Amino acid sequence: MLPNLLQIIIFWTVQVSALLVFAVPFRWAFVAVWAASHFLRAIGLTLAFHRYFAHRAFKMHRVARFVWVWIGTSAMQKGPIWWAGHHVNHHKYADRDGDPHSPMVSGVYYAHIGWFLNDTRNDTLEPTNPVIRDFSRVPEIAFIEKYFFLPPLALAIAMFALGGFPLLIWGFCLPTMTLAHATFAINTVNHMFGSRRFETVDESRNNPFTAFFAVGEGWHNNHHRYQRAARNGFYWWEFDPTWYVIRAMKAVGLAWDVQAVPKRIYEEARVVKAKRATRRAPSIIEAVPLSLELAEESE
Ligand SMILES: [Zn+2]
Ligand SMILES: [Zn+2]
Repeated sequence: MLPNLLQIIIFWTVQVSALLVFAVPFRWAFVAVWAASHFLRAIGLTLAFHRYFAHRAFKMHRVARFVWVWIGTSAMQKGPIWWAGHHVNHHKYADRDGDPHSPMVSGVYYAHIGWFLNDTRNDTLEPTNPVIRDFSRVPEIAFIEKYFFLPPLALAIAMFALGGFPLLIWGFCLPTMTLAHATFAINTVNHMFGSRRFETVDESRNNPFTAFFAVGEGWHNNHHRYQRAARNGFYWWEFDPTWYVIRAMKAVGLAWDVQAVPKRIYEEARVVKAKRATRRAPSIIEAVPLSLELAEESE
């Protein structure tokens, strides 16, 4: 709908405009507005775009779906079908040729931002892509997909109308920038830094820092091991706000068929942990002293 060059210009303009927070007077209320705008839209992305469209982790009421899709699209990360369709390809080719955003295959900048702005390698979504196949003909989804610039535009206008320039910066520009990097970090940071509970064939990692800012998505090694689950934090101590929202929706009847983590996956986690515990590195004190090999002696 929007020419690609215009999208790139808008993207960088919003990124840079976040710096204008230093040009408006500081108020703690603005920080609360930033948090609401960042975290609510993050849940829209993870709950609707990621766990629902890409992974079918649960089913939800059509009106609730529309609301979350609208909120997710207001994050300014293109449309839900584009987003989830590419994400399916990420899992299909994870860290191999064909993965639209792998720091291993195409470098950190391209995996973080470059692919999103102008994907010169894997920009085509086949009609057989499950997201296109099953959701592109739902009228309200197709509408948002086509006019994906409307939700972010509506948010920006609403912020400006409510609080002028300062609220536009704190409620739209800054959180749109932070949310872009919180999302993109799952593609880069979570394929480079963190722990690997499961020995998956890709480079996915669990990282509590990215899990916090991307509302639960940072448990990415868990997710690559078992994509279908509605929760990415597999244990109660793994902070996953998106999962808490899905559970609350289930409690009031707005979500159903919520996919759990199977027992065999928890068992696998225990087996890997036990195996690693026995593979203890030898202590330097117990090691046999190495002999000193002088050049003269070896002659
Ligand atoms: Zn991944
Ligand atoms: Zn995924």
